[in-house]
Amino acid sequence: MFPQHWDVAQQQIYLFFTLISVTWGACIGSFLNVCIYRIPRELSVVAPRSFCPICEKPIPWYLNMPLLSYILLRGRCHYCRQPFTARYLLVEALTALLFLLIWLQYPLFGIQVPLGLIPLSSPWLVPVYWVFIAGLILGTFVDFEHLIIPDRVTLGGIIAGWILSALLPVMHGAEGAWAGFQASVLGSGTGWFMLWGVAIIGRWIFKKEAMGFGDVKLLGAIGAFLGWQAVIFSIVISSFAGSIVGISLIALRKRGLQSRIPYGPYLALAALIWIYWGPRIIDWYLNLLRPAGI
Ligand SMILES: [Zn+2]
Repeated sequence: MFPQHWDVAQQQIYLFFTLISVTWGACIGSFLNVCIYRIPRELSVVAPRSFCPICEKPIPWYLNMPLLSYILLRGRCHYCRQPFTARYLLVEALTALLFLLIWLQYPLFGIQVPLGLIPLSSPWLVPVYWVFIAGLILGTFVDFEHLIIPDRVTLGGIIAGWILSALLPVMHGAEGAWAGFQASVLGSGTGWFMLWGVAIIGRWIFKKEAMGFGDVKLLGAIGAFLGWQAVIFSIVISSFAGSIVGISLIALRKRGLQSRIPYGPYLALAALIWIYWGPRIIDWYLNLLRPAGI
């Protein structure tokens, strides 16, 4: 599993950070569950402490451990025994997995990055992408339940993207704070105006709101963190994935042609694919287009 030349200390350091990534991901996932429930209801995310949404009894810390508590209590409240939604487990496990994948992208001590992931050029990109992914998960699950994406995620994401890009220009492969900031503004502008155009055209064709403005702002945030190339990639991949799911749902008669399907989760999925494998997928695609033998 480890390169031959690694000593025991190097192996332990690598395992330590791997474990930290998973644990930290599960903890952040647990906090995201609180945010997903409370932000659309305009409740504070810090106070009061976690409580059962059914009997409203506060949940003590030892029954509120990410992943473990849900499994040990078999997804039920310790007091009223009412089942919790499976979303709690799903969000914790998903956040842990996605945080782990980001960590695996960093070639510590020159390790070969697994799963065909794109190697990260700076260790600082690990926490930055963790923040970004937390925002995507929050936006996705709120969008699933309420068909809105909170401004805290989208507008907050755009501002955070600009600031982080100035502090860490390597996010855009740029040199210097000003260049990083410019790349970020260009990315968010591309996302905002491209989807805004789509929203206007959609309204004109379908004579109704085809796309929420939250999606426009979300793509702005994706651009602010990942740059304009990721914006184009996200539009292509998300419309592709969205139409497959949409057509299947209509074919299965789960939804009518007129019903609105949240688009935010597809944008989030596309942005994730970009971080993990994006540039590699582009290379592969361009190779397909190239005539054989050249
Ligand atoms: Zn309860």
